[in-house]
Amino acid sequence: MNRLGMSDPSPPAGAASGTIAMLERLVAFDTTSRNSNLACIGFIRDYLAGHGIAARLTHDPTGTKANLYATIGPEDVPGVALSGHVDVVPVDGQAWSADPFRLRRANGRLYGRGTADMKGFVAACLAMVPLFKARGLKRPIHLCLTYDEEVGCHGARVLAADLATLPVRPEMVIVGEPSSLKPILGHKGKVSATCRVIGLAGHSSRPDRAVNALQAGAEVVAFLNRQQARLIAEGPHDARFDPPWTSCHAGIFRSGSALNIVPHEAEIAFEYRHIPAHDAGALLAELRRHAETVLVPPMRAVHPQAAILFDERPRLPGMDLAEGHPLADLVRALTGANEAGRVAYGTEGGIFQEAGMAAIVCGPGDIAQAHTPDEWIAESELVACERFLARLADRLAA
Ligand SMILES: [Zn+2]
Repeated sequence: MNRLGMSDPSPPAGAASGTIAMLERLVAFDTTSRNSNLACIGFIRDYLAGHGIAARLTHDPTGTKANLYATIGPEDVPGVALSGHVDVVPVDGQAWSADPFRLRRANGRLYGRGTADMKGFVAACLAMVPLFKARGLKRPIHLCLTYDEEVGCHGARVLAADLATLPVRPEMVIVGEPSSLKPILGHKGKVSATCRVIGLAGHSSRPDRAVNALQAGAEVVAFLNRQQARLIAEGPHDARFDPPWTSCHAGIFRSGSALNIVPHEAEIAFEYRHIPAHDAGALLAELRRHAETVLVPPMRAVHPQAAILFDERPRLPGMDLAEGHPLADLVRALTGANEAGRVAYGTEGGIFQEAGMAAIVCGPGDIAQAHTPDEWIAESELVACERFLARLADRLAA
């Protein structure tokens, strides 16, 4: 049987084996977001140096994580960036049938943490570097490899800020998150926060002398529910997304220790996933105003230190590329896809777009495989990805 997949009769000679060998190396680095990624980034930097390509690293505040930026081809004109994160989600508590950090091949699939999300794409980009160099690019291919995507896209923010200081930076960015190599023109943005309610403990027989933080927190969640009902009924709506409205979701509610004690603390984590044109910051401001003007005053009447505090996390901007944008046309041509979709999950693409670069999502593998035990990517997807990248190089060499 053709190990490169039946659907792919004529892959570039030997190319998939290069990508698979590279993927094996990348998967072996346990780059779970809580770990340092310096060993992995150092390996990639050395690999690029072996091909005569200098890499620029930027670090997180602790110095234990790095982004890598490199340019293949002319450095005095802007080109197309290939972007991927090298961090992966934890395997804790997941039932893997083998070591998640050892690449395993079976039935045309490659198993291992990060194969789909998204070391497969990164491996293909790196394996194609010799081809990119040999093509004689007139416009460059840039590599943007980041840390901490899975825990808030911190690396992409640092990288985008660093790119803004360079005389030349990418004009367009292809984010290779798994999309089965279909172009994704847009995704929702996210505004999220942790809410902490400070009440006053007491015996449950005298709730009048205490401030029940759990019940105040429930009012915060109830307000979120009302916002959600209003957004569904009244909009704004964007039919290109599913669901077509901004969603309001609470994912954590912690409070209380015993039935006969009035809880003095509550913690709620919640998010708004907003359609690109919608200002979800205004929804958060509305909730804070409700807490401050309606919920807190009666609490303070009993206990002056009572409070409802909001700790907002960094926002993830939505991504929205116009149908007729040259980057949309380019990726359609490279993939042969006529359709271009929009998705509800977020990527680093919104950060690049916000920083002034056109961004699109298109990468090998199925998003359904991301974050799962026994995560895999089809070998045929990697072969198709290499062909996509080779076509990109042809375009930029013309
Ligand atoms: Zn990802």
